[in-house]
Amino acid sequence: MRIVDLLTRGRPTVSFEFMAPRDETEVEVLEKTVATLAGHAPDWVSVTYRLRTGEKTLELVTRIKRHYHIEAMAHLTCANSRDETRRILNWMEREGVANVLALRGDPPGPGEPFQPADPELKHGSDLVAFVRGNGYRLGIGAACSAEKHPESPDLEHEFRYLRLKVEAGADFLITQMFFDNRFYFDLVARARAAGITVPIVPGLMPVPSRRSLAFVTQMSGATVPDALQAEIDAAADDDAIRRLGVDHCIKQCVQLLEAGVPGLHFYTFNRARAPIEILGTLRGQQLLAS
Ligand code: FAD
Repeated sequence: MRIVDLLTRGRPTVSFEFMAPRDETEVEVLEKTVATLAGHAPDWVSVTYRLRTGEKTLELVTRIKRHYHIEAMAHLTCANSRDETRRILNWMEREGVANVLALRGDPPGPGEPFQPADPELKHGSDLVAFVRGNGYRLGIGAACSAEKHPESPDLEHEFRYLRLKVEAGADFLITQMFFDNRFYFDLVARARAAGITVPIVPGLMPVPSRRSLAFVTQMSGATVPDALQAEIDAAADDDAIRRLGVDHCIKQCVQLLEAGVPGLHFYTFNRARAPIEILGTLRGQQLLAS
């Protein structure tokens, strides 16, 4: 099923992002997390893509679909040549994967340049156009930033390329994580004013720890509101930070649901506890269907 059809049926979806395992040491935690979160009724899930672990992404996506009967979307990046990209997309269609998240991909590290493998696949919009232009029947999602992308001079620049992704054929967008809903509301208002009507799903990350927060904010460009940062700075340990992260994320979700978002997409970092606590609260308050 195309994810855009789930996002437009009139009730917000719940989705989880899983990170494909980088090596064998990550497999056990991932398997447990997938099994646990599958029991919390997600409408769909997605699995990240890295060049060296691309096969694992494809394997996990098909397994989730077959074993748990949950719609699972594969991420794909511009890390491959056009021939290899075609091979992967053919494989997805053959195996019954119905949706792809077409991305440029993360650079090797903060501040380092992304190296595309093919001069014609340099940006997310190029990959969206490639999937659409080659006749694949896959539903296509793309990424967007609610705040300034670390490589962008300003939001204007960012917005130009968001529009290009939609014009190239993206059915829906998922935002990079943000910790202040104003960024999301501004982005949506701007998109609607520009005639962009596709669903824009907020991407949410309950802060897991000080160290992870520092890394993800550097990579994504997301900023932390002063009040939340002060609470994190004063927290005694990572467990206290985790609880703060859950509480903050619940407040974000409540406001987003009240504003009528098409769904909530959780960056799980392969940890189940925070999403379970957040969903438990939202469902307990009847803000989300159980
Ligand atoms: P792009 O749209 O290519 O944007 C990257 C930069 O280039 C931006 O500054 C943009 O303004 C600029 N730009 C865009 N198009 C053009 C153009 N035509 N000309 C000039 N400049 C342009 N990374 C992974 O490696 N694997 C994953 O699985 C993964 N999953 C993600 C899932 C989500 C929901 C999100 C939000 C991000 C994910 N990322 C992943 C990270 C993502 O790859 C990075 O954030 C990347 O920096 C941006 O991806 P993009 O597709 O938006 O890139």
